[in-house]
Amino acid sequence: MEIEKGKEKKRVVVIGGGVAGSLIAYDLQLHADVILVDPVEITEIYRKEYLEIPWGSSRGMVEPSFAERLLINHSEYLPNTRIIISIAINITETEVVTAAGQHISFDYLVIATGHKDNIPKTRSERLQQYQQDFGKIKSAKTILIVGGGPSGVEFAGDICVYFPEKKVKLVHRGSRLLEFVGRRASGKALNWLTSKGVEVILNDAIDADSAKDGIYPTSRGKIVTADCHFLCIGRPTSSSWLEETILKDNLDSHGRLEVEKNLRVKGHKNIFAIGDITNIPEIKQGYFAQKHAIVTAKNLKLLMKSGKESKMSRYKSAPARVIISLGTRGSVAELPLLTIFSCFPGSRKSKDLLVGKTRKQLGLKPDH
Ligand SMILES: Cc1cc2nc3c(=O)[nH]c(=O)nc-3n(C[C@H](O)[C@H](O)[C@H](O)COP(=O)(O)OP(=O)(O)OC[C@H]3O[C@@H](n4cnc5c(N)ncnc54)[C@H](O)[C@@H]3O)c2cc1C
Repeated sequence: MEIEKGKEKKRVVVIGGGVAGSLIAYDLQLHADVILVDPVEITEIYRKEYLEIPWGSSRGMVEPSFAERLLINHSEYLPNTRIIISIAINITETEVVTAAGQHISFDYLVIATGHKDNIPKTRSERLQQYQQDFGKIKSAKTILIVGGGPSGVEFAGDICVYFPEKKVKLVHRGSRLLEFVGRRASGKALNWLTSKGVEVILNDAIDADSAKDGIYPTSRGKIVTADCHFLCIGRPTSSSWLEETILKDNLDSHGRLEVEKNLRVKGHKNIFAIGDITNIPEIKQGYFAQKHAIVTAKNLKLLMKSGKESKMSRYKSAPARVIISLGTRGSVAELPLLTIFSCFPGSRKSKDLLVGKTRKQLGLKPDH
């Protein structure tokens, strides 16, 4: 099936409706004929019709009403955009081919397929999952968290605050929590969690599939017992679909797309890439993915208006600003040249995990 272009506006196709793709589609929807292509893989069926704000997910599991604010149907913030729920499987210089057999022609393409998530098709199904996770936490006495990166640490912190009577165990493969920040910040997070009674096991790993009856053997031969577990581990990058396309030579050894300073894919005049899929040497964070979206939207507006390539903005990678919330009031923040641990710097983040701010960026009310 051919999806014809209109004559009045240039067509921009955005592949991936996560943090970066949603923002650029929102920003461009009145300036171009925008089409958003967004699915997710569920046992080989590809579909997903909403945005999920990832940095609020730990809070959604301890307070299910919070999840209502995290899950936003694409149609809610993109009233002027066509949304195609099917995986992109191929691209040429002028069209995207989807698994459902659509051929979507474009003037400009934006690739924002950061990660694959295994989540349900509809917002209401996803809300039910949050309810189930909440039920799991509520009925457990001891909860095991696998993974001591930002999502594991924030989740452990939220359980401590919402359910202080629960025993939380956190197993992390690395030698310290939050290895992507400095030792000082990770030490502060460890101290805070242990002061709340969390048992942190470092340099060890758990294969949750090998657990039986609440007994979890670790790779170093220990036994951890728990009533339930949650996996807080990294998500795979979604770039394998590009391996047989015209961009196959633009993928680096980590499967990331090589981009120029203006965020165009190297050697391709009408294809941009944004978010975690890019090979920009910086921490892969939503904060940066949103910045890529803003710079690229600006460049596309310029190209569509004047075609002046030489005037395109360049993306400047900024030093990392990392704020990890510790419960609803505390946080540890690593800013350039400074590590801060207190209620103050992250209080805005810890309070609502910046979900209100993210909703506002998409033209929505901060609260549901
Ligand atoms: C639990 C958690 C907490 C986090 N906390 C923070 C935080 O506090 N601060 C921060 O800055 N960052 C945080 N991050 C990181 C942040 O969420 C990511 O950096 C950000 O989501 C990257 O955005 P993206 O748009 O590149 O990719 P994603 O948000 O992963 O979006 C990719 C989209 O592409 C779709 N897709 C994949 N393959 C295809 C395909 N072939 N065709 C079509 N669509 C496809 C997916 O379904 C998805 O919708 C957190 C991440 C997690 C998981």
